[in-house]
Amino acid sequence: MYEGAVQDLIDELGRLPGIGPKSAQRLAFHILEADAEDMKRLAAAIVGVKERVKFCQICGNVSEQDTCAICRDPRRDPSVICVVEESKDVLAVERTRAYRGRYHVLGGAINPIAGIGPDQLRIRELLTRLNDEQVTEIILATNPNLEGEATSTYLARMLKSIGVKVTRLASGLPVGGDLEYADEVTLGRAFEGRRSAIG
Ligand SMILES: [Zn+2]
Repeated sequence: MYEGAVQDLIDELGRLPGIGPKSAQRLAFHILEADAEDMKRLAAAIVGVKERVKFCQICGNVSEQDTCAICRDPRRDPSVICVVEESKDVLAVERTRAYRGRYHVLGGAINPIAGIGPDQLRIRELLTRLNDEQVTEIILATNPNLEGEATSTYLARMLKSIGVKVTRLASGLPVGGDLEYADEVTLGRAFEGRRSAIG
């Protein structure tokens, strides 16, 4: 244990995902030795993101306004919704430039071990959109791993009864990873080759 502020910093850093006790200590000492102005900017960026950034009321993407730039853009096709797990996946799909529809961010994936079931995801909000908007196709673009597959299968089954066209990305994405790990060309191809998710 270190004294006061140093230990506080190690404890807080250690609560971040993917940061173990050793990494937390290494980062804390990096911060301690770094230029004070640089670290003030880091602290301000953290405060700024918590104060200014919220989630789009329509799709759940990160936004500095009530609705995100994509939902506000009249050039985006409102008849297609691409369902992703996290905001970072929106970015990954946007990089492909292969998609001109809108998004729905679930806020995670079904993961029974972590206690995340359908009720913890923004599925109710998706159903509300299907009632209110003129959606003709839902593209399921969850991550190509166990949790993502389980989530897509659940959604496909649920959406089947609604009568909307439901598609999934073509295979060929790196299995086990996140969408963001796929390069733009591969992800773009998976979009263009999407197939019906309702068997
Ligand atoms: Zn939005």
